[in-house]
Amino acid sequence: MDRVVVVGASLAAVHAVEALREHGYAGDIALVGAEDVLPYDRPPLSKEALREGVEPDKLLLRDPGWYDGQGVTLRLGRTAIGLDTRDRAVVLEGGGRVPYDGVVLATGSRARTVTCGPPGAERAVRSLRSLEDAVALRQELLEARSLVVIGAGFIGLEVAATAREMGLEVTVVELAPVPLARVLGDEVGHWFRHYHAQRGVDVRCGVAVDEIERSAGNSKVRLRDGTVLSADLVVAGVGAAPATDWLAGSGLGLGDGVRCDEALRTTVPDVVAAGDVATWYNPLFDETMRVEQWNNAVIQGRHAAGTLLGGGDACAVVPYFWSDQFEARMRFVGRSNAASDVRVVESSDRRLVALFGRDSKIRGALCVNAPRQLALYRKAIEDQVHWGDVD
Ligand SMILES: Cc1cc2nc3c(=O)[nH]c(=O)nc-3n(C[C@H](O)[C@H](O)[C@H](O)COP(=O)(O)OP(=O)(O)OC[C@H]3O[C@@H](n4cnc5c(N)ncnc54)[C@H](O)[C@@H]3O)c2cc1C
Repeated sequence: MDRVVVVGASLAAVHAVEALREHGYAGDIALVGAEDVLPYDRPPLSKEALREGVEPDKLLLRDPGWYDGQGVTLRLGRTAIGLDTRDRAVVLEGGGRVPYDGVVLATGSRARTVTCGPPGAERAVRSLRSLEDAVALRQELLEARSLVVIGAGFIGLEVAATAREMGLEVTVVELAPVPLARVLGDEVGHWFRHYHAQRGVDVRCGVAVDEIERSAGNSKVRLRDGTVLSADLVVAGVGAAPATDWLAGSGLGLGDGVRCDEALRTTVPDVVAAGDVATWYNPLFDETMRVEQWNNAVIQGRHAAGTLLGGGDACAVVPYFWSDQFEARMRFVGRSNAASDVRVVESSDRRLVALFGRDSKIRGALCVNAPRQLALYRKAIEDQVHWGDVD
């Protein structure tokens, strides 16, 4: 293998490049990225970078000189529009093909948009995925007095907390009966709702947004229950979708992301995938999953590189995720979903510890401001401890 193309220039990609070299791969590496900037870190975009200002250099994943040092040809500001698996080339927008012997797909995910109201109404609703989004949003937050956030997922709640800390009046509108309930269950969702309410965020659950209108610098958000919220700014935090549109027609197995086996091989030879875009079988949980989390992108970037060079180990990771909202340092290890049993083992105004079980095993643990417990539960999840034996 002499020519590896890494498509998507972000977290999973950088770690794939690094691991390729660590494994002794000495051939060409081309890094193709749609954004016009060097790879940077996204988690601060909804937290300190939004609150205190974005200093792009501080967010870079690697120094500018690192890419030369790794012998990487950067193709930034170039969007891949196709993967020609017959003649083995990545096809770029505006012309150009990058031939490959092996490919790492690391195109991540994109923010979903809200579509309601008259044509063009969605342009009045901001989303947050990129550095460019964060720079623009911060400027608007500085000029605004009120904000409506649509969606009480992690990014929506982080933006709500940050905006509140910046002094805005903040309302969050969520379709589900409580925030985060789909993944974390009602009790945990109630805790987060109460936590935000105590800090002045108006969290309205169980109600749909019917229409958004924008005129003269003000937005009106019409809810299904008849309420009309007026705000200077509206932000959508309604989740993300894997960036796979450019792979349609390539012959690759696609579904909710790029379909991979347990070692992150796609359905096409010499093409692997990693990070937010990859759906893979995780044997540790006996589950096919796609994970939109920082830690997963790092591990999978490295793992996919090893697989591309001939490794075949399963990518058996225990997912790990964090979220910072006001003073709440939330850490989640493992898996949870609507089918999990939930056991809240500690709950106070500042702290929360909840466990998640499935198939008689502990599968996940959520700890807010409780770092020591997290390490213990992570070990229990790795060891697949019986659900009845943990407390
Ligand atoms: C605002 C925000 C806050 C977050 N906070 C947390 C947090 O607190 N904790 C946590 O665990 N995770 C957090 N995450 C999630 C974490 O950042 C992601 O899981 C991680 O960035 C995924 O890395 P990735 O490399 O797979 O994809 P991405 O970071 O999404 O990067 C994919 C790259 O591919 C590029 N691309 C897409 N399509 C193409 C194409 N066709 N051609 C070329 N390039 C393309 C994109 O422009 C992008 O640069 C947050 C994410 C966001 C957006």
